[in-house]
Amino acid sequence: RNSAEKFEFQAEVSRLMDIIINSLYSNKDIFLRELISNASDALDKIRFLTLTDKEALGEGDTAKLEIQIKLDKENKILSIRDRGVGMTKEDLIKNLGTIAKSGTSAFVEKMQTGGDLNLIGQFGVGFYSVYLVADYVEVVSKHNDDKQYVWESKADGSFAISEDTWNEPLGRGTEIKLHLRDEAKEYLEEGKLKDLVKKYSEFINFPIYLWATKEVDVEVPADEEESSEEEESTTERTEEEETEDDEEKKPKTKTVKETTTEWELLNDMKAVWLRSPKEVTEEEYAKFYHSLAKDFGDDKPMTWSHFSAEGDVELYVRRVFISDEFDDLLPKYLSFLMGIVDSDTLPLNVSREMLQQHSSLKTIKKKLIRKALDMIRKLAEEDPDEYSNKEKTDDEKSAMEEKKGQYAKFWNEFGKSVKLGIIEDATNRNRLAKLLRFESSKSDGKLVSLDEYISRMKSGQKDIFYLTGSSKEQLEKSPFLEQLTKKNYEVIYFTDPVDEYLMQYLMDYEDKKFQNVSKEGLKLGKDSKLKDLKESFKELTDWWKKALDTEGIDSVKISNRLHNTPCVVVTSKYGWSSNMEKIMQAQTL
Ligand code: ADP
Ligand code: MG
Repeated sequence: RNSAEKFEFQAEVSRLMDIIINSLYSNKDIFLRELISNASDALDKIRFLTLTDKEALGEGDTAKLEIQIKLDKENKILSIRDRGVGMTKEDLIKNLGTIAKSGTSAFVEKMQTGGDLNLIGQFGVGFYSVYLVADYVEVVSKHNDDKQYVWESKADGSFAISEDTWNEPLGRGTEIKLHLRDEAKEYLEEGKLKDLVKKYSEFINFPIYLWATKEVDVEVPADEEESSEEEESTTERTEEEETEDDEEKKPKTKTVKETTTEWELLNDMKAVWLRSPKEVTEEEYAKFYHSLAKDFGDDKPMTWSHFSAEGDVELYVRRVFISDEFDDLLPKYLSFLMGIVDSDTLPLNVSREMLQQHSSLKTIKKKLIRKALDMIRKLAEEDPDEYSNKEKTDDEKSAMEEKKGQYAKFWNEFGKSVKLGIIEDATNRNRLAKLLRFESSKSDGKLVSLDEYISRMKSGQKDIFYLTGSSKEQLEKSPFLEQLTKKNYEVIYFTDPVDEYLMQYLMDYEDKKFQNVSKEGLKLGKDSKLKDLKESFKELTDWWKKALDTEGIDSVKISNRLHNTPCVVVTSKYGWSSNMEKIMQAQTL
């Protein structure tokens, strides 16, 4: 078209498109899921705008929040249309080609090292998957603030935009027309599309329709021959039926099959979270996770929690998309969770900023944290490898066999997040401390919890002993352990750099204080000899203190913390441990 404006794709986008076009062996089906996901996002956006601006929704068909799929077999065109927010001319230029999203280069890099195209949605470049099946794509779009435009590209490094003067007006929304390649003709089959929607887009919360052919029964006037046949058959009927028939007068029609086309609904839109948790199967949760996380790899969610907050009136649910940034609802340290919050208690006719300040958001956040921590605690409880299962019988344990090792797996992935939580979230510090795992002088390479540590504390032991350092091997050689080990005390090994910070916040647990055994204040029960020894060595300690005065030594003391080593440098109670000194030095260098 002469009036079309031409644009070059941003270089990274062009490379991405090349990769997509040339990816021979990947699963091409995914393009449909990506387009439906975009349509659903666009519908979410217009619904959100409508909360503050009733006019935004429009009237008649334009107000219908739905997705329509149509096939044009003759011209080999598959089109997907939504009545979502649409795109202005500027949006089209920006979103589909010129400004690379942050995920583009990451995804290109991944693909070049043999990554899985299936994960394209997670990188925010899902749209371009259309070129898996199409060699020419048109995007017709109408946004409330602009005229209708057509974006088009043959994936040859450039795209064009024209004001749309020839297509049917969309009212509002976007229609994507895929001119399918010869090898992709299967996507013109209704059965194939129905299967794909079922497989990938089951949890889309807007109706998805397919313009589908259908065999219908139609009544047509019966010809004479056939009506006589019918008479024959009536002779076999019982008397009762005959009387009824006589009253009605026999219809002179017959039923024939005819093919028509109509909109067929492909999904049932039953939101998983609105159903009773008892009714939802594990497989449904897994599928829901995949669509939510845009993660269509083989990963299943490790665990999940589905609950409704008691006390909230659930008369009706306004399923409105507020934020896909979870920051307002969950603290950073829980950002590895994925979820949906559905609430009817939030005021909707206010700005997004005001909404974020709203008190019920705080209540929801509090509840979510509790539920999340409960869920993680259960991961441990269900794991037969975990200490908390000590009381369970062998039968119970074998029933739990498939959960074996799941907490260690969680801990390896997200242990840092739990530690961050302890540092940041004073309210839930104790709950989070319960989730901590570490090795100790008695754990024999296994992970131990604080509860387990406490359960085997020696009688008379008041404090929880720990030592910080860079590795278990280093700590095992520490002179600070000599006496403790000899006296059969257990000492926790903290070897993660973050542990030093952690222990500045974690002062106690279940009424027990934490004692760094390399610091002043270590008490190992009563030692009657100690007082006498202090007396008799007073001269030596006084002399020593004086001799080291200029080195910044606080005091020189007789103690019972050592066994073989004659003396050791101990940090003061509130000072940095030597490990912390090392960490700080490493940071400033
Ligand atoms: P993502 O959906 O992760 O943002 P995509 O590559 O799938 O990445 O889409 C790019 C952008 O194009 C979207 O963020 C959106 O702004 C725009 N877009 C795509 N499809 C539609 C649509 N049907 N309606 C409105 N905007 C769309
Ligand atoms: Mg997308």
